[in-house]
Amino acid sequence: ERNPNLIRATLFPGDGIGPEIAESVRQIFKVAEVPIEWEEHYVGKEIDPRTNSFLTWESLESLRRNKVGLKGPMATPIGKGHRSLNLTLRKELNLYANVRPCYSLPGYKTRYDDVNLITIRENTEGEYSGLEHQVVRGVVESLKIITRQASLRVAEYAFHYAKTHGRERVSAIHKANIMQKTDGLFLKCCREVAEKYPEIKYEEVVIDNCCMMLVKNPALFDVLVMPNLYGDIISDLCAGLIGGLGLTPSCNIGEGGIALAEAVHGSAPDIAGKNLANPTALLLSSVSMLRHLELNDKADRIQDGILKTIAEGKYRTGDLGGTASTTAFTNAICDHL
Ligand code: NAD
Repeated sequence: ERNPNLIRATLFPGDGIGPEIAESVRQIFKVAEVPIEWEEHYVGKEIDPRTNSFLTWESLESLRRNKVGLKGPMATPIGKGHRSLNLTLRKELNLYANVRPCYSLPGYKTRYDDVNLITIRENTEGEYSGLEHQVVRGVVESLKIITRQASLRVAEYAFHYAKTHGRERVSAIHKANIMQKTDGLFLKCCREVAEKYPEIKYEEVVIDNCCMMLVKNPALFDVLVMPNLYGDIISDLCAGLIGGLGLTPSCNIGEGGIALAEAVHGSAPDIAGKNLANPTALLLSSVSMLRHLELNDKADRIQDGILKTIAEGKYRTGDLGGTASTTAFTNAICDHL
């Protein structure tokens, strides 16, 4: 029986370390009394003809119905003639923006201690449109597609995010001095949206200069919005600023208000099933999911518990230089709750 007071959310535990870190989220949500009921879905053993992928139609329907979900890493089964799981999700749900909050974790020392920025990547077009061909032998061509519709959509999301999350500035990252038509159109759309948000400062930064500034002083940035390829690179660069992919959460935003949060790391087959995985990235992704649902006090409480546990340094997993198991680290967070 459904409990009408609970919000239904789809959970894909995923492969490899996925089930272990998903269990950590489940346990912490229970202790923090988060009003969410999980609807679990697994990747199928056979290709579903309706998705042409190991991802089943039922899984997609669950997410379309619930509009909110959390996803562990998925190891794409190798074989011909089917779509990768992540691509299927992105295409079927039209996940157009990839959002990655990136902030320094107090007590976990990296080169920088004042990173607090958000990267927002356009996720459906640009250089990743998959349109490549050979013109004549020795000459190949790749098409970069930028549309007004997709650029306005991601820009609108970036400004809306800035406004609703108390952020002050949006920087559009581009190379419009060279890619005048494509990046030029992207910038034009960002400017149009910026005019509707006079309370948010707007600036444009050329991608190469942006890289230099990020490495010299990441505190210069607040919210960054950019086309697909730049977003792919810059978001990993930013993950490196705070200690790597094991700590970085992300959330994908789709048409019709769908949000699918996911850790950015893979299934870590080398440590799977050994109770060694660091659940932080998936936990912080679940915090992003809670913020999307405007369950901000639950999100704050869980985020505090994670950050305190890491800062204390008593329970840290191997990737952060500690010896704690996944369960010991999770229990320590629960104690803080
Ligand atoms: P990976 O991220 O799985 O592992 C890289 C290294 O980081 C490994 O040494 C691993 O042990 C470590 N690591 C990763 N996450 C960790 C965590 N939470 N705690 C502790 N250590 C962690 O990358 P890979 O080895 O290139 O990929 C393995 C599989 O994952 C492949 O099948 C790949 O297709 C898949 N993958 C899926 C996603 C996704 O679903 N979003 C992303 C990347 C890779």
